[in-house]
Amino acid sequence: MPRPVVRHQYDAVIVGAGGAGLMAALEASKTCKTAVVSKLYPTRSHTGTAQGGIGAALGNVEPDSWEWHMFDTVKGGDYLADQDAVEFMCQEAIRVVYELEHMGLPFNRTPEGKIDQRRFGGHTKEFGKAPVRRSCYAADRTGHMILQTLYQQCIKQAVSFFDEFHLLDVLLQDGRCAGVVALCLATGEVHVFHAKAVLLATGGFGRMYKVTSNAHTLTGDGCTVVFRRGLPLEDMEFFQFHPTGIYKLGILITEGARGEGGILRNGRGERFMERYAPTLLDLAPRDMVSRAMYLEIREGRGIEGKDYLHLDLTHLDPSVIDRKLPDIADFVRTYLGVDPHRQPIPVQPTAHYAMGGIPTNLHAEVLDERGQVVPGLYAAGECACVSVHGANRLGTNSLVDIVVFGRRGGQRLAQWAPAADHLPLPKEPEVMAQEALSRLTTNLGGESAAQIRDELQQAMMAQVSVFRTEAGLKEALAAIVQLRVRYGRVDVQDKALRFNTELEEALELGCVLDLAWATTVAALARRESRGAHCREDFPDRDDANWLKHSLAVLRDGAISLSAKPVTITRFQPKPRVY
Ligand SMILES: Cc1cc2nc3c(=O)[nH]c(=O)nc-3n(C[C@H](O)[C@H](O)[C@H](O)COP(=O)(O)OP(=O)(O)OC[C@H]3O[C@@H](n4cnc5c(N)ncnc54)[C@H](O)[C@@H]3O)c2cc1C
Repeated sequence: MPRPVVRHQYDAVIVGAGGAGLMAALEASKTCKTAVVSKLYPTRSHTGTAQGGIGAALGNVEPDSWEWHMFDTVKGGDYLADQDAVEFMCQEAIRVVYELEHMGLPFNRTPEGKIDQRRFGGHTKEFGKAPVRRSCYAADRTGHMILQTLYQQCIKQAVSFFDEFHLLDVLLQDGRCAGVVALCLATGEVHVFHAKAVLLATGGFGRMYKVTSNAHTLTGDGCTVVFRRGLPLEDMEFFQFHPTGIYKLGILITEGARGEGGILRNGRGERFMERYAPTLLDLAPRDMVSRAMYLEIREGRGIEGKDYLHLDLTHLDPSVIDRKLPDIADFVRTYLGVDPHRQPIPVQPTAHYAMGGIPTNLHAEVLDERGQVVPGLYAAGECACVSVHGANRLGTNSLVDIVVFGRRGGQRLAQWAPAADHLPLPKEPEVMAQEALSRLTTNLGGESAAQIRDELQQAMMAQVSVFRTEAGLKEALAAIVQLRVRYGRVDVQDKALRFNTELEEALELGCVLDLAWATTVAALARRESRGAHCREDFPDRDDANWLKHSLAVLRDGAISLSAKPVTITRFQPKPRVY
């Protein structure tokens, strides 16, 4: 039976209440009647877990410049980032950090009272000469502080919040966006939001992997709804593994721990990064450190020959750990029973960040396969691909990305929407959503979502992670294709309307299955190694053939791939040596 339908009308609807969504809502609400739709209560969004910091060339503790930040970002991304967007981001980062400070964000301070800054991977001075202190931080709770600060401001500005509403579909009419459809988790009703403009800020999708730093809710729902509506996803083959996840659990130990002087050691106690990145050592970009860790483990130099290594903080002053890294010290005590003052921390690379996502320009406007703007549709934050991170994101650059492009998207929307009309809605806008819900709750197929999820995460972890080969990717692809067929028979046992978390998890599984599929197809096609995409059978970067973005589009039930040029302005591609 179809569910009850409730309708709303707003000028602007923002989906997602992480840093990107809230920043956009703040700007949009200056001129527009604005609603934020979020499946989580806003302050539970993943931005709140970000630990290490937000990069901006303030130059508070040593000389720095946005050009150096730009160079590091382009080089860190293995020259795949669009340099016009990177330039914009690195310039704006400075202004936005001060704006956050003025909103009340409690950053750590230098003795003179300026915002303090610390080192992070891949951030250097004078175009690669030596590490620089660029990351602005609030202990190891930077994201938490950003989220709380922005949420308070949104409340002050009377933004309407629809908390625990799960996005199901985006409504497109003649190539323009007319709104979204969402499920109200508390009641089970379907809500149609008629809007002049929609901004998607639904975050990443690390949950397609078994070992990940990402919260359970990071299933890429926003990316999936646009993909299912025939819009492209860009650079899906690039997924970042962070070097230091807690062994087996994947919970993140911030790179800030190495920024404060922490050292990675193998089973022989060696500081192995000396062999892989003689200048930046443990603070080389994440793709390089994760590969080095896999190689050490593969060559039998894991701790006691096992598949993990040590992050050693024991030589640091205990008061530095307690003051600057209090949360991670707590995590390792709680989850591992390890005292970081006296014992090294067992770590392994953990699936962390999606460089790919919904293609946008630097105004956060969504682009179709031909590169044309989709009027009324915007995306910002981890679900978007601007692309400022190219093939590998530098630490602290996601928090910059979400606030810079969330703000930009919100501003653009605030200019555009007041003068625009509401498009008429399609006739039965909720039909696709109703069908998807009723299929899952009336199926008799007997397949379990939990079982399919487990098999998917294992396959992705085994074959589509730090190192990839043609044979492995083909194996993963065959498994995903089968799992998608089995997904069609998933049968949700709980038939309740209210707070049906089993149904929600089944919806989320459908999303990660589609995104894992797109990731694997794109990874199989890219016959080179660049940034986080490392093909053992094609170990070199191949600029002649592959200095281009990939676009994956769903067409007639299959994925078709095409390419898009990279914007290069100041920095010509060079080999990456650190
Ligand atoms: C443990 C950890 C530590 C990190 N540390 C750092 C760091 O120190 N520095 C840094 O730069 N980056 C860091 N990152 C990365 C960075 O935090 C994220 O990339 C960034 O916060 C993403 O922000 P966002 O606004 O795009 O999405 P999120 O903060 O993930 O928010 C997504 C929002 O979308 C909503 N949503 C999702 N699906 C739906 C749906 N179907 N319907 C309705 N709403 C939906 C959610 O409710 C949520 O509000 C870290 C990431 C992790 C996991």
